[in-house]
Amino acid sequence: MSDTAEETKTLSDAEWRSRLTAEQYHVLREKGTDPPFQGEYTHPGPEGLYRCAGCGFELFISDTQFDSGSGWPSFTAPLESSHVATDEDCSLGRRRTEVMCSRCGGHLGHVFDDGPGPTGQRWCINSTSIKLEPKDPS
Ligand code: FE
Repeated sequence: MSDTAEETKTLSDAEWRSRLTAEQYHVLREKGTDPPFQGEYTHPGPEGLYRCAGCGFELFISDTQFDSGSGWPSFTAPLESSHVATDEDCSLGRRRTEVMCSRCGGHLGHVFDDGPGPTGQRWCINSTSIKLEPKDPS
């Protein structure tokens, strides 16, 4: 997907439905969650840059990805703290911190305090919300 910059902030619901797959729409726009261990990026793989599947914004790099055993792609930090937004999420009867793309507002996942060093954070992200741009395209 091309880099669409600021325009995605003002897209209507119908426009989002037309530009995303049903699965992407559910996760990004309806705060859905990928089934565990089934996402494309569950385990660290090729090196590269993960962009937002909604708007193309640069969100995470493979250098910070680790295998958390949780069933979802996990990172110790975002590429830039300004590229993600967080919000308190009290759904499902527990308090969690939701992570969103700061450009298009798309739901990415949650961040937890039980990650490894150096940050101690675990950014638990849905594969459906991101798209890998491989460092060495094959
Ligand atoms: Fe985005």
